[in-house]
Amino acid sequence: QSLNNYLDLKGNIRVFCRVRPFHHEESYQSRSLFTLDESNVFLKVAETKIKQYKFDKVFNQSSTQGDVFAEVEPVIKSALDGYNVCIFAYGQTGSGKTYTMEGKPTPTDLGVIPRGIQALFDRASENNRRFLFTFSMLEIYMGNLRDLLVPRSKTYGFKKEPSLSIKTNPDGGIEIENLVAVTVNSFQEVKRLYEVGTRLRSTAYTMANSTSSRSHCLIRLSLTSFDAPERKKATNKLWMIDLGGSERLVKTKATGKRLKEGKAINLSLSALGDVIDALQTKKAHVPYRNSKLTTVLRDSLGCDSKTLMLVHIRPNEDDLCETICTLGFATRVR
Ligand code: ADP
Ligand code: MG
Repeated sequence: QSLNNYLDLKGNIRVFCRVRPFHHEESYQSRSLFTLDESNVFLKVAETKIKQYKFDKVFNQSSTQGDVFAEVEPVIKSALDGYNVCIFAYGQTGSGKTYTMEGKPTPTDLGVIPRGIQALFDRASENNRRFLFTFSMLEIYMGNLRDLLVPRSKTYGFKKEPSLSIKTNPDGGIEIENLVAVTVNSFQEVKRLYEVGTRLRSTAYTMANSTSSRSHCLIRLSLTSFDAPERKKATNKLWMIDLGGSERLVKTKATGKRLKEGKAINLSLSALGDVIDALQTKKAHVPYRNSKLTTVLRDSLGCDSKTLMLVHIRPNEDDLCETICTLGFATRVR
């Protein structure tokens, strides 16, 4: 049975789990409270109690970027078959979300985003199908939608900058007004834009005295296919999303601005959980409107689209509470 076949049979929402290795400084005295197999996390929640969490796939501490990509690739490639696709990285700060999505520049450390984009260009040129790709990059910070390919205007203070607005087309398609979408013809072009976006993102944080863990970063690749030159057939989207850290606020003892940021993140993550849960249980009402994140993704979550949730956990005993919360989220959306 091919993986694509399997995906179709099993529905359109997959949930994977990845546990990052111990850092050097952690390793000399750290313990893990779980054991893993191919598709389960067994967590020791109390001295005599083990809780089992099921996934479509589990990656352990020694899984490589290549191992992860091998499982993600079919989902990404389904964008070439016309599906809308959303790939999310979920987890507390420091659990490995950015490592999975972006990775590091060394070839073996490249993450899902660069590998996926390279694979799309390779495949699109392979079989002569004609595609137009455009690339966009944005972030959602405190409910504000910001284009990461447009330098911030100096006339706005961080808070006052207006959010990009979202429009629903008559066909149900979602459009982000004035969002820059640059036509891209190669992986190298995407890489350059990604670097621009990343730079703008970090500048913003110095200004706001905050960190990237307090916002969601969204990459959008739009794919337009053609029947013949100049004859558009369809457009669909591939989203790759590095979500804000899922840690709860009690633990971080956040106050003031940090507290507000944290609340915004937690709110949108639970809204995302609600939407996926409603789709999984086939509820009549799917509460897309409860957050900017789910409003933006409305036409790419559910119906005929494919969703992949990559849930990340830290290995340490110290993080047990957050790990339980994260695994609880995963159970909810699966
Ligand atoms: P997050 O984006 O969730 O805050 P990061 O991706 O920044 O977390 O990961 C935290 C640190 O752990 C980084 O230094 C990262 O390079 C490292 N790391 C995360 N996952 C792995 C992994 N699977 N293998 C090796 N290093 C990892
Ligand atoms: Mg990160």
